[in-house]
Order: sequence, then structure tokens, then C-alpha cells
Amino acid sequence: MSVPAVRIPLTPLRLTALSAAYLLAHLFLDWISFFNEVAPLNITPWNPPSGLVMAVVLVAGARVLPAVWLALVLADVLVRGMPVGPGAILLSNAVIAAVYGGAALFLRIRFQIGPGLARRGDVARLLGVGAGAAAVVGALYIGLFTALGLFPWGQFPTMLLRHWTGEVIGIAVITPFLLVWGKRLPALLLSRHWRWPPPGRIAEAAAQAAAVGLALWADFGPLSSDRYEYFYILFLPLVWIASRHGLPGAVLGVLATQTGLLVAMQGVGVDADRMMHFQMLMLALTVTAQLLGAVVSDRWRSEAWVQERQTDFAHASRLTEAGEMTAALAHELNQPLTATMSYTRAARKIARRDGVSDQLAETLDKAVAQAERADRVMRSLRDFVRKGESRRDRLEVADLIADSLDLAGPVLRQKEVSAAADVPAGLPAVRGDAIQLQQVLLNLLRNAAEAVSSVPGGVVSGGVKGPQIMVSARIDADCVAVTVRDRGPGLSEIVERHLFSPFITTKDTGMGLGLSIARSILDAHGGTLSAQRLPEGGTAFRFTVPLAAAEQDREGDGE
Ligand code: ADP
Repeated sequence: MSVPAVRIPLTPLRLTALSAAYLLAHLFLDWISFFNEVAPLNITPWNPPSGLVMAVVLVAGARVLPAVWLALVLADVLVRGMPVGPGAILLSNAVIAAVYGGAALFLRIRFQIGPGLARRGDVARLLGVGAGAAAVVGALYIGLFTALGLFPWGQFPTMLLRHWTGEVIGIAVITPFLLVWGKRLPALLLSRHWRWPPPGRIAEAAAQAAAVGLALWADFGPLSSDRYEYFYILFLPLVWIASRHGLPGAVLGVLATQTGLLVAMQGVGVDADRMMHFQMLMLALTVTAQLLGAVVSDRWRSEAWVQERQTDFAHASRLTEAGEMTAALAHELNQPLTATMSYTRAARKIARRDGVSDQLAETLDKAVAQAERADRVMRSLRDFVRKGESRRDRLEVADLIADSLDLAGPVLRQKEVSAAADVPAGLPAVRGDAIQLQQVLLNLLRNAAEAVSSVPGGVVSGGVKGPQIMVSARIDADCVAVTVRDRGPGLSEIVERHLFSPFITTKDTGMGLGLSIARSILDAHGGTLSAQRLPEGGTAFRFTVPLAAAEQDREGDGE
């Protein structure tokens, strides 16, 4: 089971706004994390800007790389006051932007990693590729400044390890946090349904925060020594948080712990060497908590998926039962219907022979026509439900629409709803089962009429002229698309969410099967059915049926 990666469409305006916000955030993060540095360079115990760089390229792609390079250069100028010459600054930052940017683009393109980190393996891949990229950046960055004579070559391995640790912990803490919460937070804050979590959850979160604080106190309070003995205690609250709140909890817990750790280390005055060791321990803690959180989140997604499939399955089996019932009903009604037809035909014959009344003969004609139609509908439905079969005749869409409007006449009159058709002349024929397609149209028309008549006054947008239901047909690639627009109240939220699922109805006497059967019929025709809430009020149902010519081509190809 996997969730498709989310891509945010970036207009030029959005890209500029994102780049500007990123630039400011980069400078700020660099400024607050620039302590215990080695030489005047950006080699610090933790370097969150690298995590920000990975996140912004993962979200926005290669287009943001110039802003990344600019931010890196500006940080060297503004935060560190140009520690080396302009050439070295421009070059070293170009290397950093290229390697981290390349790594993020690789993750984005090859593994579709993006906001949310919602798929299995996303976190592990991000951490692994981030660690590799940090090693490459470190080798080139430290190599460049060693070659320029800033450090002796003997110090290269130590420098590299120090640099790598700061970079990786920066990426491991910041990138997953931004990707997970950058997607969740705006949705949470802007949601109309936002509510405070229940008191139990708030109390649990407070207890978890207190546990992190207590573990840090054990590390740096009166019990501490300089051998990091109590660091392992920090694993407990983070395992608790990750197992209860999945990846979103884990990344938040890790960020809070890292912040607490840095404040505590600054508070007690830990030297650069010990700070690096603490950051290594923190790296192990971060990876553990995030992988655990990712596994827990993945399990939740699997459970939700199984539950959804179970609901689908229950719906499907109810639909099968309804199908069986329809077939049985059709079978049972067949006999009386045939008898009714014979008696009515006989009555018509008698009326004509005895010349009783022309009006009676005409009425009996109509009765025969209706009984014959009921018989055809019954047969067609029975065939469809039993074998999923439909006829494949050449059909004129204009005739289909005219016949369906005729059939819907009684309901339209009863509901006092006006309807009209807009079908261009010369529309090519489609291929399908006339009775079944009429059923689809009739269903949509009946729903539309009911929707319109449910609005007081019958019109949603006052002042709109023209019929309340409009049926139009247009050619669309190798199909004809038929749209039934109404000026009713629009689809309700629940129906929209479960559109075309059987047994979803808002009507007291509804079965909720009409749309689902319509979709099955169109599926069997190789067509589609979709619905749209109209901005001016009302609903548009649109279905497509393949052109007779296109169907022929397809059959020809298959042979
Ligand atoms: P039923 O008509 O028995 O309820 P359907 O499957 O035909 O079953 O329709 C399902 C639901 O979809 C309806 O109960 C109604 O809420 C909604 N619906 C269908 N067509 C429209 C429409 N044109 N406007 C608003 N709601 C509609």
C-alpha cells in the first residue's frame, strides 16, 4: 500500500515568496546555531540550515537552487563576516548548494519524496542519502580549506567527522520536521473544524514534555558526570512519543529534545568536543525515534487502508445482494407483465373491433407501449445484473436525450421543473445499449428534478434565466460527453465524499443505488461518470460514451 507523493504547484509568485521566506529562515537558523564553531568557518556542533536546504529543494525542486546558493553566501558574509576570501566563499557555497541540491533532487525524482514523508521507506531514504551527501560536502569543503592552508592535513579526519556530525544532525532533525509539519500545520490551522485536542491528549503531551525535561535534567543536573552516563534515559520519552504519535510526534519530539539539549549544553558550558559527542548520541536517538515513528505511522495507514477495503467489500456484497434481488424481481414480474400485455392488446383489439370508443383504443395503445417498455427495461436490467452484459448498437445521442426527456416528462411535470436540451446537429453516433443509457439519463434527470424542487422557489441563484435542468452533449476526444446541469442545492458533503458508492442517499425514500448503477452501466460501456458542484449553485453530472467509430477502431486493433 502506498500513498502518492504530494506536489505543490509553484507559480512564479509563490516561488519568489517561498525563496524569500527560505532566505530569511536560513539566515536566522545560521545565526542562532553559529556557536562553538571551529576556526571562523561554518563547522558547528549542529547546522540546521543544511536541513532547511534539503527540505526546500525537496519541496520546490531545482528552481530554488539559486536562492540556496545566495543564502549560503549571504550567511558567510552577514553571520561570519567573510571568514575567507570572496572566491573561496563563492566556490565552497556553490559546492554545498550543488551536493545537497543534487541529493534532494535525487530523492525527489527517484523516490518521489516530498511533503508529508507519507510512504514506507521515505524517512530511511532521506536519512541515508542525507548522511551520504553530508560526507561528500564535508570531504570537499574541509578539503578545500585544508588545501588553502586553514588546517594542517593531519587534522583532516577530525575536522571531517566534526563537520559531518553537525551537518547530519542538522538534516536529521530539521528536514523531516519541515516536511511533515510544513504540510500538516497549515491544513490544521486553516481547518474550519479545528478543535482543541481532548484533555487526556493534552495531559499526555505535557507528561511527555516533562519526561524529556527530566531526562535532560538527569544528563546535565546535579547527577551528571562528564561520561554521558544518563544520555540513554532520553530514549525512553522519545520511544514513548514515537509509538503513540507516529512520525509527526517523533519529529516534533526530536526537535524539542535537540533544542533542550543545546540549551542545556550552553547553560552548563559544555566544550566543543563534548558537544560533538552529545550530538553523535543525539543522532542515534533521532534516527531511532524517527524510524520507529515512521513504522507506527505506516501501520496506521495500513490499518486505515484495510478498514476502507472492508467497507468497500461490505458495500460490494450488499450491491451483489441488491443485484440478485433485482434479477429475482425481474423474473417474478415477467409473468404478470407478459399477461398484462396480452390482456391489454386483447382489450385494444376488442375496443377497435366493436368500435366502442376511439379514446379508449388510444389509451389502450399507450398502456401497451408502456408495458412493452417496462418489459424491455426489465430484460435489459436482468441481463446486465446477471452477466454484466450490454448491447452494442449504434445510437444517436440526440434521440437518446429526447427519449429520456420524454420518459422523465411525468416526474418533471409533477415537480414543476423545466428542462431543455442543447445538442448540436451532426453529433456522431455512439455505441451502446439504448435502454441502459436511457436508464442512466432518466436517473440523472430524476435526481436533478428532485434536487431543484427541494429548493424553495426552485432556483438557487436568483435571477438566472432559462430552464432549471439543462442537458447538453458535446464531442470530447473519441467520446460524446453528456452533461445534466441543474439549479438545485448542489451535492451535500457526505454524498460528495462517497459519490457513486451504493446505499448513499439523503432522501427519505431513496435507495442510494441510482448513481452506483449508472456508473456500473457506463463502466460496462467503456465510459465515465463524474459530478461537479457548480460555482453558480447546482450540480453538473457528466458522462461519456465512446463513439461508434472509436469502438470500431478499437475492435479492429484488437483483431
Ligand atoms: P437516491 O436517488 O435513491 O438517493 P442516487 O444514487 O440516485 O440514489 O443518489 C444518491 C444521492 O446523491 C442522493 O440521495 C442525493 O443526495 C445526491 N444527488 C444525486 N443527484 C443530485 C443532484 N442533481 N443534486 C444534488 N444531489 C444529488
